[in-house]
This record gives sequence, structure tokens and C-alpha cells, in this order.
Amino acid sequence: LPSPGGWRFDTTYLSLPERLYVRQAPLPVRDPHMALFNQPLAEALGLDLSALPEPDLARLLSGTSLPPGATPLAQAYAGHQFGHFTLLGDGRAILLGEHLTPDGQRVDLQLKGSGRTPFSRRGDGRAALGPMLREFILSEAMHALRIPTTRSLAVTTTGEAVLRDDVLPGAVLVRTAASHIRVGTFEFAAAHTDRHTLESLIRYTLARHYPGTVAADAPVAEAARALLEAVIDRQCSLITHWLRVGFIHGVMNTDNMTLSGETIDYGPCAFLDAYDPATVFSSIDRGGRYAFGNQPAIARWNLARLAETLLPVLAPPHAVADGTGLEWVHALFDSLPERFDRHWQATLADKFGLPADAPRRLITAGLEAMQADEADYTNTFAALTDAARQRRQTGAATVPACPFLTPALTRWYADWATAPAAPDQADRMAAANPRRIPRNHQVEAALTAATDSGDLRPLHRLLAALATPYQDAPEHVAYTLPPQPQERVYQTFC
Ligand code: AMP
Ligand code: MG
Ligand code: MG
Repeated sequence: LPSPGGWRFDTTYLSLPERLYVRQAPLPVRDPHMALFNQPLAEALGLDLSALPEPDLARLLSGTSLPPGATPLAQAYAGHQFGHFTLLGDGRAILLGEHLTPDGQRVDLQLKGSGRTPFSRRGDGRAALGPMLREFILSEAMHALRIPTTRSLAVTTTGEAVLRDDVLPGAVLVRTAASHIRVGTFEFAAAHTDRHTLESLIRYTLARHYPGTVAADAPVAEAARALLEAVIDRQCSLITHWLRVGFIHGVMNTDNMTLSGETIDYGPCAFLDAYDPATVFSSIDRGGRYAFGNQPAIARWNLARLAETLLPVLAPPHAVADGTGLEWVHALFDSLPERFDRHWQATLADKFGLPADAPRRLITAGLEAMQADEADYTNTFAALTDAARQRRQTGAATVPACPFLTPALTRWYADWATAPAAPDQADRMAAANPRRIPRNHQVEAALTAATDSGDLRPLHRLLAALATPYQDAPEHVAYTLPPQPQERVYQTFC
């Protein structure tokens, strides 16, 4: 039954083998205050905290007090960070528990910046205000873009200083997720060569995120195979969404890839302005490993690490050693580049308003023209959507007078405008092409106002503009503007 406020914890993660977590309460903060509260999300979760005076709400959402029924814990995991295996775990996060929403969803409630844990290594367990506000903006923008993602319920300031390159104000983020099970959670279980933990995790994850996929008493090899295939499907779909809106995750380490298929861990992530597949913003991604156009290949690499963790249950030891019985795994991974490409070409057809069997060269030429002219990715597709709408209304296929039509795009436009259109062209394009994305320069400007002068108004205006990204809204037109040369953000930080 729900407690006052609507809290309804039922934390099944505690039924898993104990090596997967440590019971650990968040550390109280010195002087908690509310910075942001996501009322629509609170309502969707069935939480009504309006009876709480602000100081009590801030205590609760900073981990200084606990909601009824919470069973706080830090999760153990491992991961490949920029290709290198490491044992990790929640070093600055605490899972309060799993909350059941009124519509029957099971949702992790996690505090980020909640103090040191046994997994903190050299870190302080805390988080700075700017990055927590950044995660709030970006994750809520992704949700509004209809892309699976963790979400942000609240940010509180802590009244504590956090030492980074600079002394920064501290903050705690409350994040929700379908779960926090990562590829790295499986890598942790596999690293301990503990078959019981691995099998428990396989069955648990399958039941939680892919219920009904196999019978509960199916052999574990069957469960593992079903899980792998289901996760690959979700990740194919997720990465295609990222490419569709120009999202660059920036730190696609295996500990930042979920088994649920949600986007997780908004660090130095960023959106494209000008279209270029080689784009990298993340300050920590020196080699461009996680560049925009590399994301499908990296997803495949990460999924291969997941498959490796499952090998001990997918086939008996002798088969793993000599590779027999696992031909299907090789075939599956061999097929992934083509599969990603098929998803992506279908999405591009939607973005360009072309039928599924449109000539590939038309799509490729459109992208090449954008890249050659450094055309704005979002605005080019928005303008093409407008052109399609106009064509539907007037029947005209003339080149519109429009600043998006750079020279190379103008040459390409005639081919596009005379090619057979997709059925429901304009509607299909409007659904695939957002008008507004969280542009780096606008995000940075809103964060600077919030952290340097305590002025949250620019941030609220930005959040409002990003809440309806597919709607053409004259009042939000400022948020469609690409950066002026002096506004350009070249690097993002976590
Ligand atoms: P991330 O790069 O955010 O995915 O984090 C990678 C790992 O570093 C995770 O295990 C985090 O919990 C840990 N970590 C990041 N920041 C801190 C911090 N300030 N204190 C302790 N651990 C941290
Ligand atoms: Mg334990
Ligand atoms: Mg992480």
C-alpha cells in the first residue's frame, strides 16, 4: 500500500545475490534547498509531496532524510571504460529502492551525488550543481523527444562546496530509471566466475525488462540467449533514435549501457549543430572513440562484451573452449552492422520523407550536401519538413527561399523534390524531425546563469522550449538558432 506522499517501495533487487550490492544510506547534506522539481514526473510516479514544507522536501530529495519504505543500497558493477576493464560500482549514487507507480510500472529511484560508498575509489561521492542541472535538462529533453531514457525528478543544492578543477556548489539529483542494470553489471557478475550470481541476474533482468519472453522454468541457456537478443533489439532501436536527433552520448562505456534500453548517464553528452559524423564534444574522448557516427559500432562492441559474460551459460565449457555450439553468436554479431544500417536507413527515409525503397543515393547525397556545407542538422530537416507541408498544401515543388538551402543542398533539392514522396510525407517527417533540441550553447548559457548568478529563469525557459520539441512554436523560435561563431561550444565536460 502507498504511504503518505504516495511512496510505494518494493525493492526486488534485494532478492539478488548479496555481492551485487551493499546496503548503504545516503550521507546527509549540510544545507539542502530545492533547485528544480519535476511536477509532471512526480504526478506520473503517483507522488504528491505538496503537503511537505520546502525544507522537508529538500531534506528528502537530497537524501538527508529517507522516504518511508526506502531500502538504500549502492550497486556493484564493472565496465570497459574507453576499452579498458575496471571494477566500478555506485561511487556517488544510492538506489533508494524500486517504487511502484499507479499504472503498475516498477521504477528505480536513485540519488546521484549522495556521498561516498565502498565503491567510491578516489572520488568524493558528491556532484556539482552544473552537471546535475545539465543531466536534468538533457534527460528531460530526451524524454520529450520520445527516446527511452532515465528521467530527472529533482535537483537540490547541498550548501557544500565540491572541489573539482574549481570550487563548485554541490547538488544532488534524483533520477528515475526502468532499472540501473548495465552491461557492466553482467561484467561484474562474470568477473567473479560465480555462476549462481550470473544466472540469477539473467533471470532477474529478463523477468524485469522482457517479461513473457521465455518461460520462467526455461533452461538458463535459453533465457540468456533470449536476453541477449532482446537487448540487441532495444539497443539497435535506441542508437537509431540517437542518430535521428543528433545525440552524441560521449561516454559509451559498458557501465553506461543499460539492459533496459534506456539512455543513461548524461555526462559530456551533446547534440549536433552542423552535420558531421566525426563530431566529438566530450572533453574526455580524446581519440574520438565515441564520435557521433561511431555510436552503432561502439554499441556493437559493448553488446559483444555482454555476450562474453553470457558464454559460460550459453554453452558448456568444452564448447566455449573450441567454439562449437556458439556459431549463432558469431552469426548474430556479424549481422549487426547490416542490421543497424537497415534501422538507420529506414529512419533516414522518414527524416527525408521518402518511401522505404527510395534510392539510397538520394539519401546519401542529401547527407553529403549537408556535411559539405556544414548545414545545421536539425534545421535542415525542419525546413525540408516545411517544404513537404507546403507542397502538400500548394502542390508546388519549387525551391523555397530559405536560408537552410546552402549551395550544395540547393543542387540536391531538385532531386529530392521530384522524387516520389513517402505516403503521408509531411506527417512522417514532422514525427521524425524535431524543431528544437538542447543546443550546447543554449544549455551552457542556462547553466551559467543558474550557477554563477543563481538565476534559474533561462533554465526554465529552455526546459519549456524543449518540452514540445516536435511542435512549431513561434514563442520558442530563439531555441532553434544555431550558435553564432562566438557562441560555439567546442567541448563539453562531465
Ligand atoms: P561515470 O563516468 O559517471 O559513468 O562514472 C564512472 C564511475 O566513477 C562510476 O563508478 C561512478 O560512481 C564513479 N564516480 C564518478 N564521479 C565520482 C565521484 N565524485 N565520487 C566517487 N565516485 C565517482
Ligand atoms: Mg552485498
Ligand atoms: Mg556511469
